[in-house]
Amino acid sequence: MTIQSVGIVGAGQMGNGIAHVFALAGYDVVLNDISQDNLDKAVALIGRNLERQVARGKIPAEDKAAAMARIRTTTQLPDLGPCDLIIEAATERETVKQAIFEDLLPHLKPTTILTSNTSSISITRLASRTDRPEKFMGFHFMNPVPVMQLVELIRGIATDEETYRTLLEVVEKIGKTAASAEDFPAFIVNRILMPMINEAVYTLYEGVGNVRSIDESMKLGANHPMGPLELADFIGLDTCLAIMNVLHDGLADTKYRPCPLLTKYVEAGWLGRKTGRGFYDYRVEPPVPTR
Ligand code: NAD
Repeated sequence: MTIQSVGIVGAGQMGNGIAHVFALAGYDVVLNDISQDNLDKAVALIGRNLERQVARGKIPAEDKAAAMARIRTTTQLPDLGPCDLIIEAATERETVKQAIFEDLLPHLKPTTILTSNTSSISITRLASRTDRPEKFMGFHFMNPVPVMQLVELIRGIATDEETYRTLLEVVEKIGKTAASAEDFPAFIVNRILMPMINEAVYTLYEGVGNVRSIDESMKLGANHPMGPLELADFIGLDTCLAIMNVLHDGLADTKYRPCPLLTKYVEAGWLGRKTGRGFYDYRVEPPVPTR
């Protein structure tokens, strides 16, 4: 099946990056969010990020203009009806995602492929509540989408071969690399990454180190480009906590229990960069540790 138009639900950190790469690769993009303000911010951010690529000589200026012209925004989900491919990238809450697919289904063509960018929710379960589980897949991008090379492709138990092959072609067309993962909690990258971040929060909670010493240790001692707490702030602490809960519930192993300090930060609304404060306070430059 040939994909030409892509409907993206959710214009947050991930949705705007996904819209950016698809528009640049020549797809027609319809970007949806419940908030007009988030849509306006997403388009402005895509414009700035494309401009940076032009300034660095990575793309010609005409490509920026062409990509921007391929992006339409809407707060109305039915406007995504004619799209060949749907990428759901809304808030990481199963009830939210389920409601989006339910609302979308009556407006879609029978051939439309459905995907979710979920970091951790069961693809098989999301698919089973639609009218086309064989045309449903996990399409998991990494943050920031325009920069990160990997995309995880997750087949649900019912996903057919044609859907998988179609998405493999799409990944190639947007210039990224696919890794196939089975549909088990958090797939591959987050199954390994999140317990490491959670362990870094435990290390902080137990006073083994402070924010700076933990991040410095992993940068200089394990050659990680970012420290785990800095990375957690970048991903969003609510997202990190949600993924740990999915691992804990889905695998029923106490080694995945979320650190109480991570829960406390989320309860405080200190969700990382996106709210201005997390393990670091971003309201000052340079950011300072909050512990
Ligand atoms: P975000 O909070 O930045 O953005 C979520 C967006 O969804 C918001 O703009 C919100 O208004 C919108 N939204 C909420 N309910 C909606 C609805 N019913 N219809 C349309 N839009 C709705 O979150 P994010 O970091 O972009 O994460 C989005 C998804 O991507 C999640 O499933 C997350 O697990 C996944 N993901 C996140 C990362 C990451 O590093 N942040 C990486 C890979 C995957």
